[in-house]
Amino acid sequence: MERYTIPLVPGPTSVPEPVRMAYRQDYASSDLEEEFFQLYAECQDLLRRILATENDVTIHTGEGMLALWGALKSVLRPGDRVLAVANGVFGYGIGEMARQIGAQVEVVGFDYDQVPDPDRVRQEARRFQPRLVTAVHCETPSGTLASLAELGAIAAEVGALFYVDFVASAGGVEVRVDDWQIDLGLLGSQKVLSLPPDLAMVTVSPRAWEVIEQVGYVGYDALAPWRTGPQRRYLPYTHNWAALAALGISARMLLEEGLDRVFQRHAQVAAYTRRRLREMGVDLFPAEEAIASPTVTAARVPPGWTWPELDAALRARGMGVGGSYGPLAGKVFRIGHMGSQARMELVQRGMDVLEEVLGSRP
Ligand SMILES: *Cc1c(COP(=O)(O)O)cnc(C)c1O
Repeated sequence: MERYTIPLVPGPTSVPEPVRMAYRQDYASSDLEEEFFQLYAECQDLLRRILATENDVTIHTGEGMLALWGALKSVLRPGDRVLAVANGVFGYGIGEMARQIGAQVEVVGFDYDQVPDPDRVRQEARRFQPRLVTAVHCETPSGTLASLAELGAIAAEVGALFYVDFVASAGGVEVRVDDWQIDLGLLGSQKVLSLPPDLAMVTVSPRAWEVIEQVGYVGYDALAPWRTGPQRRYLPYTHNWAALAALGISARMLLEEGLDRVFQRHAQVAAYTRRRLREMGVDLFPAEEAIASPTVTAARVPPGWTWPELDAALRARGMGVGGSYGPLAGKVFRIGHMGSQARMELVQRGMDVLEEVLGSRP
């Protein structure tokens, strides 16, 4: 299908021209060429800078979900205790995934329009003594952004690894892997980085590597082979060279713009989007703007509209937005202003179109 003229879907985001260029070339076999391994190492360094970490970074073929599954399977054995901190589709979903792997899971659950309360998490963590605490930075389906520093300190206090899904925030919002004591940080290529859904990335702390070695999980999504594979010039499969080339371009673009400016650009378009929605009389989700993510804005489908009607009316004008999932399906729609889509001019056009569409019905 053709691209939207106003692409505001919260991932995959539209791929900017310089990144697209990387896909227009032919590449040799990744595991035979020194040049590929140098590119891999360079991408690791760029990601370390974006994520404020000195930890190892692994880069896999796949997309965000591969990072989520691969990291869970690599550190969990059946019966291991997992405390899943959940305030949305991904947080609850990660708890369910851990359960499916055979872990003993307790969920510290919060409403979808809330962020986790550290006091409750601390209480549960002290009582349950988990081996792993999982959390989500930006809950894309509900547009919230959690605070992670305290959760990281809680995980460290009880001796658990801290597993964080920052797929929809990293690069557009400050993420401080080392300061927040994140042992496994999960990233996909199709959100802020504005690549197709081709790569999964994981920051791995030394403590997490120890556990990974003890667990010894093998599989396509296993982290273990990436600990020394790239240095030994031996990969578990032929990598997606084009995607790594694209990642290098995208990451360099973010760093050259300057992370502070990138974060400011995201915060500004998000604040603008929320203001325009409020002016149109559309209810924001969450209502509390302090916990709204700078990468995605969620709002309630206005009275008098169903989500399919609203979606169709926007599509007819070339505008793509997202619906939602789980308990918010049909009730919430989302404007994805992350990465290449965090541009004021784009979001302005989108809000003008939305205003026109909503105004077409009394
Ligand atoms: C997009 C996303 C993922 C990856 O999910 P896909 O549905 O495969 O794109 C994981 N976590 C979060 C929070 C995301 O927004």
